[in-house]
Amino acid sequence: MPSWAKRHWAALAVLAIVAVTVLINRLDGRVWFCKCGELRFVIASAYSEHTSQHLFDPYSLSHLQHGLVFYWLLAWLTPRLSWQSRQVISTAIEATWEVIENTPLVINRYREATAALGYAGDSVVNSLGDVLACVIGFAVAGKIGPRWTIVLFVAIELAMIATIRDSLLLNVLMLFRPIQAIKEWQMAHP
Ligand SMILES: [Zn+2]
Repeated sequence: MPSWAKRHWAALAVLAIVAVTVLINRLDGRVWFCKCGELRFVIASAYSEHTSQHLFDPYSLSHLQHGLVFYWLLAWLTPRLSWQSRQVISTAIEATWEVIENTPLVINRYREATAALGYAGDSVVNSLGDVLACVIGFAVAGKIGPRWTIVLFVAIELAMIATIRDSLLLNVLMLFRPIQAIKEWQMAHP
């Protein structure tokens, strides 16, 4: 292996995981990007036909939170591994979720249980953005330490609940234990 590849093996592994994710998403029949035909960097609305179809949208923050959680979870579970190895594992978990999330089974579950009306799966570009957000979240957690990670996680939860009536924790709750009152509150979004 050339020395540059040895030095950057983790980055190369992350890129390889991303490439495989794109391939699987395409084989799964996901569109490259939004059917509106425009490729936009970020979509502000959580409730538009462009959501989950462009690179980043409010839900990108949930994926950033995954990175925050994975950093500390893996630091705890695999203390002997380097942070580079853990970044690769974190990315692999996130990419696997991106594939599972877009299977018909999970898509239908979301439709039934949550406010994700008309959700038909992420575009390939959005899956890329999600994995990228997780990679960034992981890196940020390593830089800011455990306390600020908690502050950042809670801040994102509150900001998302206040602005789009959805968040990572709400999403997990509604996926496993749907609560009608919360669903109605979400559906009545402005
Ligand atoms: Zn669009």
